[in-house]
Amino acid sequence: MPMSLPRRLMAAFVGTSGVAVAALVLAVRHHDRPLPVPEAHPARHVTLPAASPPADLSYSTMLTSQSAGAPEGVLVGGGRWSATRRPVQFAVLVRHPKGNLLFDTGLGCQHAEQFADNNWLHRQLFAYTMHAAVKTQLEAQGMADLPIKAIIPSHMHWDHIGGLPDFPATPVWAPPAERQQAEAGAPPAFLRSQFNGVTQWQDLRFEHGPVLGFDRSQDVFGDGSVILLPMPGHTAGQVGMLLSLPSGKRLLFTADTTWTLQGIEVPADRSWLLRRAVDLDHDEGANQRAIVHLHLLARRFPQIQMVPAHDEQVFATLPRFPAFAN
Ligand SMILES: [Zn+2]
Repeated sequence: MPMSLPRRLMAAFVGTSGVAVAALVLAVRHHDRPLPVPEAHPARHVTLPAASPPADLSYSTMLTSQSAGAPEGVLVGGGRWSATRRPVQFAVLVRHPKGNLLFDTGLGCQHAEQFADNNWLHRQLFAYTMHAAVKTQLEAQGMADLPIKAIIPSHMHWDHIGGLPDFPATPVWAPPAERQQAEAGAPPAFLRSQFNGVTQWQDLRFEHGPVLGFDRSQDVFGDGSVILLPMPGHTAGQVGMLLSLPSGKRLLFTADTTWTLQGIEVPADRSWLLRRAVDLDHDEGANQRAIVHLHLLARRFPQIQMVPAHDEQVFATLPRFPAFAN
């Protein structure tokens, strides 16, 4: 019996969409392969920088918020599409006898008003659950008056600097290129209300020599305990931080070069599908070179703990405020 017209149309549709899905799956597999790792790379020959951290240096992390969740395959090429990951937003508090630092702030007290600048679609895409702002967490521990020498945003995307208005008198260190990109930027990546009240900008110019294969560095206290590194690509002036503790432990905070540790280990970029759908990186090629650089460092120095800014599984291994580690 011949098929009715609706059934024939349905069969044609299923056939066509099946081919389209199969083609898409093949394209995703092709594009989400590991990034090529060159044989010759300066990171293969670097040595660890010297560090003499003071005995009372310590650090903690403050969870401000957590994303609603996404398939791991979206967050990292080659990731599992069946596993849901819930990226975190957090601040790193470094206590050094010469001054306390905040690396990133996560979301802040004014998160709802700031986030309202997004359109409806972006509010759904970037939905989060608020935990508590850095300022709120400090107050809850009787540390509201803790002097903070500087806030150092890893970059100026909305999920990293929401707490800037909560510390209006604190210097904020950023590379000029990062500020320029943010000033020219727009939601959802950049929310002006987060940074237009900053009065104490200080240019971060990486005045010290190469470290770990990065061209330049900024040794904040001159003792090698906190070294800031230029990691442009994801944004124009993204900053990483090498923290060397009195215990000998070292951590490299790698910002949003990747969203997961897996991205560094493989090495793999965010999923091709997501990168084609959303304008994620300032310079995708530069960011991929940064991923490969970090991958080689991770292989050469397994003693350095790599800390991407949003990996909730890595975050779970770090000391959580009010606990500190040294
Ligand atoms: Zn981010």
